[in-house]
Amino acid sequence: MKSLWIFIKRRVNNGVFGKGFVEFVSMYGGVPRLYTVNDKKPIDPKSLETFLEKDHDYKYATLVHCDTPSGILNDVGALCPLLDKYGILTVVDSVSAMFGEELRVDDARIDVLCGGSQKAVSAPPGLAFVTISSRAKKVMAERKVPIASFYANLRIFENYYEEKWFPYTMPVSDIYGLRAAVENIASDVGMLARHQRIGEACRRALTEAGLNLHLESGFSNTVTVFDVPKEVLAREILQIMRDKHGIMLAGSLGSLDGQVIRIGHMGSNANIEDMTETMGALDDTLRSLGISLKEDLRERFRYYLDALL
Ligand SMILES: *Cc1c(COP(=O)(O)O)cnc(C)c1O
Repeated sequence: MKSLWIFIKRRVNNGVFGKGFVEFVSMYGGVPRLYTVNDKKPIDPKSLETFLEKDHDYKYATLVHCDTPSGILNDVGALCPLLDKYGILTVVDSVSAMFGEELRVDDARIDVLCGGSQKAVSAPPGLAFVTISSRAKKVMAERKVPIASFYANLRIFENYYEEKWFPYTMPVSDIYGLRAAVENIASDVGMLARHQRIGEACRRALTEAGLNLHLESGFSNTVTVFDVPKEVLAREILQIMRDKHGIMLAGSLGSLDGQVIRIGHMGSNANIEDMTETMGALDDTLRSLGISLKEDLRERFRYYLDALL
């Protein structure tokens, strides 16, 4: 049995994506080991370094870049090189962070990076992206136990472009959508800075209005998560936002279900017009539910957008 290591953001049954990894690892015969940390802060590189000094006999580690249910951003650029030092391969889920947050795959020495078309990339859902380091390729090639999968065997895709052979029917319409999205991203030089500015202005506006950000630190600029005020229910907020304002915010998953509201501002949603409208609608919704806000959310959001220029 291989020894595998899983990072999970919250305790077992609520780090939704971390737990997903645990299940995948077990499904393929690996032995997962959880590294659990405070659920309101990102993984601290110093603590990880200390941990690894004593305990580093792992084949690979999986990390979630932005843990979308809570909005925590892990500093994979600092964490992955620590693991690499001990020869531990890294598998990073950056589905909800890439293109909204800086990510330097080679500098971070990430071995396998996963992304999806439907988040900040803003292409139709349906495509997964994977980068594979030469070290990871070597490990796959030298395996003694055959990979018990067809579609999930990355070696099936080897040389697919050069040989013009794809293991199943090409999802042509998705690829066209992806091409348009990539062209948008390539021409959008201020993309990361805009995510940063919108994320920061959103957090400051919510805080000044008297709402409570769910996290203590490590805020992702792709999603803002705040605690549901105790006078109301999450679904009441979501319903008024949807029915009266035509805006979809999200609740959350696992133990955060009903506890927090998430405002997604990634990719095509990270634009000033839509976010201004969202903040105005949220202000109206919360007041209509009897929550007293100390500041006007829309006005504060606009104020900080300008201040952060
Ligand atoms: C959305 C999301 C996923 C799931 O992507 P699917 O395409 O639905 O499998 C995985 N990880 C993170 C961090 C996400 O935000």
